[in-house]
Amino acid sequence: MPRIPLIAGNWKMYTSLAEARTLAGAVVSACKGLTDREVMIAPPFTALATVAEVVRGSQVRLAAQNVCWEEQGAFTGEIAPGMLRELGCTMAIIGHSERRQIFGETDALINRRVAGAMRFGITPILCFGETLAEREAGQTMAVLERQVRAGLSGIAVAEPANLVLAYEPVWAIGTGKTASEEQAQEAHEFVRNLLLDMYEKSIAQQMRILYGGSVNSGNVDALLRQPDIDGALVGGASLKADSFERIIHFRQ
Ligand code: PEP
Repeated sequence: MPRIPLIAGNWKMYTSLAEARTLAGAVVSACKGLTDREVMIAPPFTALATVAEVVRGSQVRLAAQNVCWEEQGAFTGEIAPGMLRELGCTMAIIGHSERRQIFGETDALINRRVAGAMRFGITPILCFGETLAEREAGQTMAVLERQVRAGLSGIAVAEPANLVLAYEPVWAIGTGKTASEEQAQEAHEFVRNLLLDMYEKSIAQQMRILYGGSVNSGNVDALLRQPDIDGALVGGASLKADSFERIIHFRQ
């Protein structure tokens, strides 16, 4: 069975409420009639309720940019999965390199977030990727293996759609430097084989692995033509309606 491509927009810490409403409206329009791909947007927490109203009834899925593992409690600054569900969120980005690098999130913490999200019916998009220094030191695959195995430690997956992975080389995020199709495919194939080692074949073969890192309207087609690239996690280019529309309409 072919994997359904997923185009995911990460708005990071951008957009006022008015901007979020307009951008979400443009994404909803861009998706009309598309049946062979899924589209998701992750506004900042403050805009989730506003964007939820705009995407309601459309095929655009709503995601959070992070999620706590606890149902409720004394966790200042965190958001519980149930709170996100209440807003209509069905997905959450977890382990983004900005969380790892700027906010010190560890593989162990990220693993708790993945487990918590899944327990409450939120589909995690688990991000992982090597830094430039790690790539230059020949450690790329070892880093990917550590992050994927640790991030998914103890995580059972009953349905392949319940978990999404995203390979995001740190050196390609927000830098305008994209991994070549060959570099990306090599990493994705490696991770696919890891999944095959960790999960049943039918599950591992159906799980989606997105590529993220300076994806834009000019490089999306070539990246998504690679056999193990099942979609894109897009930062900067998801903030401009025209470029994100072109990415949504990628041609394989
Ligand atoms: C991201 O935020 O996950 C990302 C890949 O950003 P950009 O597309 O701007 O590199």
